[in-house]
Amino acid sequence: MLEDKEQKRTSLERLGEFGLIEHLTQNFELNHASSIKGIGDDAAVLDSTEYKTVLTTDLLVEGVHFDLSYMPLKHLGYKAVMVNLSDVYAMNAKATQITVSLAVSNRFPLEALEELYDGIALACKMYNVDLIGGDTTSSQKGMLISVTALGQVNEEQISYRNGARPNDLLVVSGDLGGAYMGLQVLEREKEVYKVNPNSQPDLSPYSYIVERQLKPEARKDIVELLAKLEVKPTSMIDISDGLSSEIMHLSKSSGVGCNLFEDKIPLDPTVISACEEFKMDSTLVALSGGEDYELLFTVKQEDYEKIKGNPNLTVIGYMTEANEGTHLVTRGNHKIPLTAQGWNSFSNSEEE
Ligand code: ADP
Ligand code: MG
Repeated sequence: MLEDKEQKRTSLERLGEFGLIEHLTQNFELNHASSIKGIGDDAAVLDSTEYKTVLTTDLLVEGVHFDLSYMPLKHLGYKAVMVNLSDVYAMNAKATQITVSLAVSNRFPLEALEELYDGIALACKMYNVDLIGGDTTSSQKGMLISVTALGQVNEEQISYRNGARPNDLLVVSGDLGGAYMGLQVLEREKEVYKVNPNSQPDLSPYSYIVERQLKPEARKDIVELLAKLEVKPTSMIDISDGLSSEIMHLSKSSGVGCNLFEDKIPLDPTVISACEEFKMDSTLVALSGGEDYELLFTVKQEDYEKIKGNPNLTVIGYMTEANEGTHLVTRGNHKIPLTAQGWNSFSNSEEE
């Protein structure tokens, strides 16, 4: 892709920083009333509204968080926005603006950054957020991309991590483990490609899980659904590192325990078949895999009627008193302590 000599390559030096920023951002519009001034001055200007503002930021580093040998730049741009919007939605807020900061080495031509910004533009359009600024600089090696996202929420609607109470139901959106298994497939194809560059991988049986890895979607729809159902989560977090560590975060912040039922964990059939193929335990993949960007939240028991049967939501457990600990209740009805990595027998002793 990047190395393709047939493609047009315009070196970044030819444009200069101002030309580059203007070129990349010329088609972005401002759609939110709170965006008073976007790109083009020393700072963006936002209207402070009747809402509370939420703000979150993430830094993605080439070779650490993404691998451009299988991550198309358009997808990278899209995903960099998604991981931030996911954090905004995890506060039960509406995402409104982003900034994008980039460091790129001169190995990237303008066309590569155009692709990256195509992905960013698509994310802004699909999720109705305004790009209001950023920063652009060079790097010695590789690419860094940092996105900051802002959102708005009514103070009473904010869902912190610390609001879960004993007997609250633990609920997750969508299904889990797909992004991790997609990564396994992509890593395997990369190794095959290294040995035989002419091989044409057939990824079609894996399209769902590969898409979960390369084009995750933040769950804006779930925040809207909960508002429609008039359910306010007592606590909420997004699943970036795996179900287990996110449950531990909610439990610890809230000062409660948790029982998670193995047989309730939602898994797509393609995740189950990929786990069989890779000889991995699907429960462990869901618990430790990460990057699913689903929402994990707790609701009061009395809200069960409002959420039950919704195809987007699965009740996977309930919260307990803190002294009962956080456990996985297996299919065989054994209780195993959860750890940040999954469960106890697989953990190394470094973490709690
Ligand atoms: P300054 O020198 O004051 O940092 P810049 O020249 O970096 O200003 O930025 C000029 C304008 O372009 C600012 O509004 C800034 O937010 C915006 N901008 C810079 N880089 C990016 C980028 N990568 N994406 C979006 N907007 C950017
Ligand atoms: Mg700058």
